[in-house]
Amino acid sequence: MKRRTLLSSALAGTAALAQQAKNPERFNQPTGYRDTPVLPLQRWKVHDIDRPKPPVVTPGAVAGAPPSDAIVLFDGKDFAHWTFRGKRDKPAMQWKLENGYMEVNPGAGDAATKESFGDMQLHIEWSSPIEISGDSQWRANSGVLLMGNYEIQVLDSYNNPTYADGQAGAVYGQYPPLVNAVRKPGEWNVYDIVWEAPRWNGEDLAKPAYVSVILNGIIVQHRKEVIGRMTHRTVATYKVHPAELPLALQDHDVPVRYRNIWARRLAL
Ligand code: MG
Repeated sequence: MKRRTLLSSALAGTAALAQQAKNPERFNQPTGYRDTPVLPLQRWKVHDIDRPKPPVVTPGAVAGAPPSDAIVLFDGKDFAHWTFRGKRDKPAMQWKLENGYMEVNPGAGDAATKESFGDMQLHIEWSSPIEISGDSQWRANSGVLLMGNYEIQVLDSYNNPTYADGQAGAVYGQYPPLVNAVRKPGEWNVYDIVWEAPRWNGEDLAKPAYVSVILNGIIVQHRKEVIGRMTHRTVATYKVHPAELPLALQDHDVPVRYRNIWARRLAL
């Protein structure tokens, strides 16, 4: 079987070379054009030869592994990229670090990156405790706090009745996930998030934030316009803040685990 495959691919290669010899100009394509019309709302022409080429990025070797231009925020080994947004203003991380993951230290406070981010792509994996305790919003609640202020909910939503805009994958208090795609407690869930930071004109909001979220390979938020900062039982609002802020992970008093966290800066 394998031999036949090799043989047929060799024959196909020979046929392609024969075609090329017969019709050489067809195989000698230009790498761009200068005589084409300008694209609407862009400064570039169609197939513009002078348009800057996208930089080369080498994807991770396996699905979910950081690509070559990622900032690896947590690879399971140390807290080098992290500080602590503690309730008592303690800068050193007080979360557990073991077996390649970090775990919320209930009641200690939120974790935050040392680095600040604006527009970003974020990959982060999380799991809720196997031992189920509490219900509704008390079952494995945590959260990915984009810019420390805007929450993509982390929750054990597996067979856990709770309000729709508080489920895993929700923009908390604003938009439910399109589907409930969460895995069983103890299994690893994967978020891939695209974040467009809000823009400010002085103290005024010039452009709201937008967010897209893929949970376990399934789109759950598609470029939703974020209403404002995380809030509970009230309508979210914006409050002016710097163009870049640290990413934070919420301590909601439950030992939720995180691993394989990487980010890419975007210029959107
Ligand atoms: Mg939460």
